[in-house]
Amino acid sequence: MDGKTPPRFIADAMLGKLARWLRIFGFDVEYSKRSSDEDLLKRTLSEGRILLTRDRDLHRKAFPHSLLLASMELEEQLGEVIEAFGLSSYDPPTRCPICNTILKEVKREDLTSQVPKSSLERYDDFYICPGCGKVYWHGSHWERIVSRARRAGFPNLDPDSTDNEE
Ligand SMILES: [Zn+2]
Repeated sequence: MDGKTPPRFIADAMLGKLARWLRIFGFDVEYSKRSSDEDLLKRTLSEGRILLTRDRDLHRKAFPHSLLLASMELEEQLGEVIEAFGLSSYDPPTRCPICNTILKEVKREDLTSQVPKSSLERYDDFYICPGCGKVYWHGSHWERIVSRARRAGFPNLDPDSTDNEE
């Protein structure tokens, strides 16, 4: 790792899906369905974020603190963000896809009703969101995350192995 902190983002109201997926990959992304353009621009500047948008006009107003996405398709949009900022690693699950709060690891013993018994028995790693209380674990959705990351062009899932350049 070169110690570079990844950019923090704010997504416009049309890009909820992209925001959730970037959070799943561990990036800090603010998103609200009800943000006005004015709110978005204000927060972009005051919080030092990069505005993700498909709106040319909004992009122009926020430039250079913005990225104009060309595609309407999620994986291509993820690819555009990855390429524009040279993102080379990701580290899920670190953020709640619902509320962007950093997840905390939680012991199996401390979980009861939130997780189905079969999952408690099968998996080892559980995470809780201190923001909204939702519990996450490496279940069957995990493969979906990995393959989506791969299709979007993320070089590697394991941040420790990104040093192996070819
Ligand atoms: Zn949450």
